[in-house]
Amino acid sequence: MAADGTIVVFGSINLDLVARVERLPAPGETVAGSDFSMHPGGKGANQALAACRAGHPVQMVGAVGNDANADVATALLRKDGVFMDSVISKTATPTGVALILVDETRGENQIAVIPGANGEVRVLGAESLGRAGAILMQLEIPLEAVEAALESARAEGVRSFLNLAPWRDAAASFAGKADVVIVNETEFAGLAAALGHGDDEASDETALRALASLLGGTLVVTLGAAGARASDGKDLWFASAPVIAPIDTVGAGDTFCGYLAAARSEGMEWPQALDLACRAGALACLKAGAQ
Ligand code: ADP
Repeated sequence: MAADGTIVVFGSINLDLVARVERLPAPGETVAGSDFSMHPGGKGANQALAACRAGHPVQMVGAVGNDANADVATALLRKDGVFMDSVISKTATPTGVALILVDETRGENQIAVIPGANGEVRVLGAESLGRAGAILMQLEIPLEAVEAALESARAEGVRSFLNLAPWRDAAASFAGKADVVIVNETEFAGLAAALGHGDDEASDETALRALASLLGGTLVVTLGAAGARASDGKDLWFASAPVIAPIDTVGAGDTFCGYLAAARSEGMEWPQALDLACRAGALACLKAGAQ
């Protein structure tokens, strides 16, 4: 049961297997790699860790396999003090894995995600929600589980944050059940198209306000180096990101989401919360790895 005011993060936990290669292989081809590393990942776990590092109590709800990868995937969550008693580890399926090839000259990558145990997550029981202050979700677990959790949160009066990542068309049908929807520019385009606003651009304030009003909640759009904007359909807020020389932008969006949920849960107003999340997202670009 989540303690008073805790942020419940209901989402994916993965092990990222990263190989640096001289170039990405063509089908059937073998190329030489120069480096291999394993990092904890998964959007749910990344965001849980960010909210926890923002200083807020966090309960992770998700699933890992009964295997050695589970220990590596959850190592930082445990080390940083995220509550893990609602993470199921008895699934017959293995821990989720992301296979990532990075082209070391061009910086491009190829990624295959095997959801494994993340695909087994079905229900977020009322006992997990308990007296939570907020719930934060992404789209790396089954969508019916996300939608059901949004409905439970609304019924229990728990504020919900939904990051529409990675973008899946089917999520547009229930995004309006979230109190706060967070998208990057690509996801904004997907959401706008799915809601019949295909020509809208993330940088257009009128489009943001219109889409927020259609959803009925607050819509937050992250704009990379340009910062982030949000609207509740009426008001508009903006925060710029600090100017940095990025090293690895993987996980910037996840860090933003975790800090934003924590800042709002601490009672921060939108402009201050956006500013904090933007600064955290920028700092995440200065270190390699998602966590
Ligand atoms: P995603 O990682 O989901 O694609 P963004 O690229 O929009 O999301 O980044 C999320 C946040 O991280 C931005 O709102 C910003 O605060 C920060 N950020 C990302 N890239 C940069 C950058 N090049 N310079 C400064 N901040 C950045």
